[in-house]
Amino acid sequence: MNKAIFPGSFDPPTNGHLNVIQRAACIFDELLVVIAVNQDKGYLFDSRKREEIMKEMTRDMPNVSVHLWDRLIVDFCVEKNVRLMLRGVRALADFNYEFELSMINRQLNENIETLFIPTDQKYFVLRSSAIKELAQLGGDFSRMVPPPVERALNEKFGGYFRET
Ligand code: ADP
Repeated sequence: MNKAIFPGSFDPPTNGHLNVIQRAACIFDELLVVIAVNQDKGYLFDSRKREEIMKEMTRDMPNVSVHLWDRLIVDFCVEKNVRLMLRGVRALADFNYEFELSMINRQLNENIETLFIPTDQKYFVLRSSAIKELAQLGGDFSRMVPPPVERALNEKFGGYFRET
């Protein structure tokens, strides 16, 4: 069976992440989305909330499952017997970081391969950090995130202001 994982912080997930998940779900028999749990990182949403949101976003995708993981991502691959790790890339700056990360993961376990999926140009400038900032400042982020994320951000920050 052709399996891959898509790991990330997803704090919160964006339409860019969702696009990568949808495309990957068409390529692989099984896609495991892995939400990183790192006690040292100051997440906006705790891991349970990120898991709940991601499960809701992928509810209609029968070959996609969502997992939480607080150890090395290559260890998750070993435990689940998966050899492919997907990472999305936007600009060249992403690629530098992702390339280094793939080198590190390869040193940790050379049986795991990283595959890069280029972003769809619609999501070229979408990043979770910008969405959090927009939400905090009362900007309209509704076209950048799936509905469960929009609801979660509105709950946290009390909604955004629409121009009438
Ligand atoms: P991390 O903290 O591990 O980088 P992120 O949640 O920021 O996790 O991102 C997870 C993956 O999704 C990364 O490979 C990142 O480059 C990719 N990604 C983030 N935003 C987009 C986007 N708009 N289009 C395509 N890929 C994206």
